Amino acid sequence: MRAGVYLRISRDQLGDELGVDRQRQDADRLVTARGWQLVDHYVDNDISAAGKVRRPRFEALMQDVEGGRLDVVVGWTLDRICRTARDRLRLLELGRERGLVISLVRGSDMDLSTPAGRLAADILGAAAQHEIDVKGDRQRRAAEQAAALGKAPSGPRAFGFTLDRSALVPVEAAAIRDAYRAVLAGATLAGIARQWNGSGLRSSRHAATEPPRWSAETVKVLLLKARNAGLREHRDQEVGPARWPAIVPEETYRAAAALLTDPNRRQSTPVGRYLLSGVARCGVCNQPVQAGSRRGTYHSYRCRSLGHVARRGDVVDDLVSKVVIARLSRPDARDLLVDHQLPDVEVLREKAQALRTRLDALATEFAEGELTASQLRIATERLRTNLAAAEREIADAGRVDVLGDLVSAGDVAEAWAAIDTDRQRAVVGALMSVTLMPVGRGSRRFDPASVRIEPLT
Ligand SMILES: [Zn+2]
Repeated sequence: MRAGVYLRISRDQLGDELGVDRQRQDADRLVTARGWQLVDHYVDNDISAAGKVRRPRFEALMQDVEGGRLDVVVGWTLDRICRTARDRLRLLELGRERGLVISLVRGSDMDLSTPAGRLAADILGAAAQHEIDVKGDRQRRAAEQAAALGKAPSGPRAFGFTLDRSALVPVEAAAIRDAYRAVLAGATLAGIARQWNGSGLRSSRHAATEPPRWSAETVKVLLLKARNAGLREHRDQEVGPARWPAIVPEETYRAAAALLTDPNRRQSTPVGRYLLSGVARCGVCNQPVQAGSRRGTYHSYRCRSLGHVARRGDVVDDLVSKVVIARLSRPDARDLLVDHQLPDVEVLREKAQALRTRLDALATEFAEGELTASQLRIATERLRTNLAAAEREIADAGRVDVLGDLVSAGDVAEAWAAIDTDRQRAVVGALMSVTLMPVGRGSRRFDPASVRIEPLT
């Protein structure tokens, strides 16, 4: 019989009086007395345990048992071999599979190849499983309670916040705020990621094998976090206001989230570099035009499928820009922002919160037997519909961000020139439809009438 001796030094009370030498001598004596062949000592040191405890030799022991290199595991007690209930369960399950003998200096042998030994292992295993369940249950309750109180969850630091979220990290919070605004104005996630990487911002969470650089995907995940709007989530469900400061108002967050989760958003299609790429349409087939290759100093727009129309881009861009500036400079430009019944966001927010609370209460009532399953389902569906409507209204209020800056600017032309093409394109899309009409062959002069610009109502 080949025996492996497992020894563990720890700071617990037993460990103080039980030096590793004493453990080793007693275990070795047991191996000799039984006439077993000693294969190896496996020694772990728990004393430096700060945070996560790693026990490489316990893992090596498990591997040797699994690989059939050991028939017997010798230790002081079962608790000395296995630090946690989870380890205990692992050893017993593996031992059962392999017909292992577990031999304890303080305790009896457990021969897992016999029915009596397996029964003992089952009982110890069930006890270990129970311990794991109770602990898990306790942790789950604690997490639920923390969530209901709006406390910060434990775990790694969230980008934009200090570790305990009692404060914002100014540079990161400002970047997040700009990103929401940019997304609402039509910027791409990849563009935001590029900009963040360029300005030296680093993700606080990333795979160990990768540099903490931002990608379109990680920016999206970040912007979809309700915590940025001061909302606490638990298991991917919003549970109410958080105790930490918000980076953006709830309406901005909802508007961006609605946009980012819209299945019609063509994130994979690269948006062109020019003002009207994908925005202006062909006057023949009504498909969006594409910016064609640059010839000399100007780009062109052409019908992407059948080549119905082709037009000098710079001239069309210039015309459309002038129309936009003229429209936004008019005294009634403010009317464009949102409907006159601008929703009262505070009231909407309270309404949404009340609905969320009611949803929670329903689950409790059901658990306590005050509701039947079908009553619960009907009531939940109705509340969820109302909640979705309220959240949509809050999101609509956030769309002001697309045009707001331009309308309130003293000099619209100057403000227009200052924003990037992504945002300009979003403004055009919000204000008007642009259609490029075909012109006769050989027509050299630009005819403004061949660009049909219609305001969106
Ligand atoms: Zn066409």
